[in-house]
Amino acid sequence: MAPPALGAVVAETHARVDEPITGPWAPPTLIDEPKSRWREPAPAGVDSLSFPHFTGQEFNELFRMAALPNLSSISATPAITESAEMDEHIRAEAVERGYQRRPLPANYALMRLIDDGLALQRPAAAAWLALQQDAADHGFELELKSAYRGHRYQREIFLRPLETPYELDDLAERLKMSAPPGYSKHHTGYAIDIGQAGHRHFGSSPAYRWISADNFANAKKHGWIPSYPPDGGRQGPVPEPWEFTYVGVEAILCFHQPPAGDDPLCSN
Ligand SMILES: [Zn+2]
Repeated sequence: MAPPALGAVVAETHARVDEPITGPWAPPTLIDEPKSRWREPAPAGVDSLSFPHFTGQEFNELFRMAALPNLSSISATPAITESAEMDEHIRAEAVERGYQRRPLPANYALMRLIDDGLALQRPAAAAWLALQQDAADHGFELELKSAYRGHRYQREIFLRPLETPYELDDLAERLKMSAPPGYSKHHTGYAIDIGQAGHRHFGSSPAYRWISADNFANAKKHGWIPSYPPDGGRQGPVPEPWEFTYVGVEAILCFHQPPAGDDPLCSN
């Protein structure tokens, strides 16, 4: 099945993004899709492009350094529980684990809704569909499980498995699996959780073997990197093989290039 058109309008009731994207929503038509310098014209032998290899910490550095458009940093972190004191403890513990505050989209009108109500930043939306198509061409049916999340939704996810009244120990334990609101890469609109249809554990699926082979070459080809690589040090949750973040192909190709190098792709 062909992927749905970018920006398909999704009925409000199906949208898992309820803040602050509301109401029947259509993408603006005046703005061109982001153009990738290396795609136009596509270089000969794009399939045999070789990408630099990264350690887990370098992958994390890549996301930290990537100059991603349409983001706005948050001035204060949202409430987690009803108790400000408890929240302080959780945030301190989260930072200790390596979680970082994440920005939100600056302009939600620039985002794209994907088929079932999941939204992504425009370059990430295009790159997700390209990755999904590439996987399909190789016999793997990738599914998008989660994309942009607002603070309210992240809070719900974080607290959902816990019983009230909340206990500090349970909240701290929860940080192994989930970011508290304000600290999820999903807030940026540049992170995706994916799965392979028919496989419960993405990390042991054939699609994961395909995407992770050769230091994630098939993800890099479309501008994606693993969000929590296995050897990434203190980065928040225990490694999540199903999450990927978009940084763009140029950022990947240019990571090891000196800023004033002679590669025209990496010179600005
Ligand atoms: Zn995720």
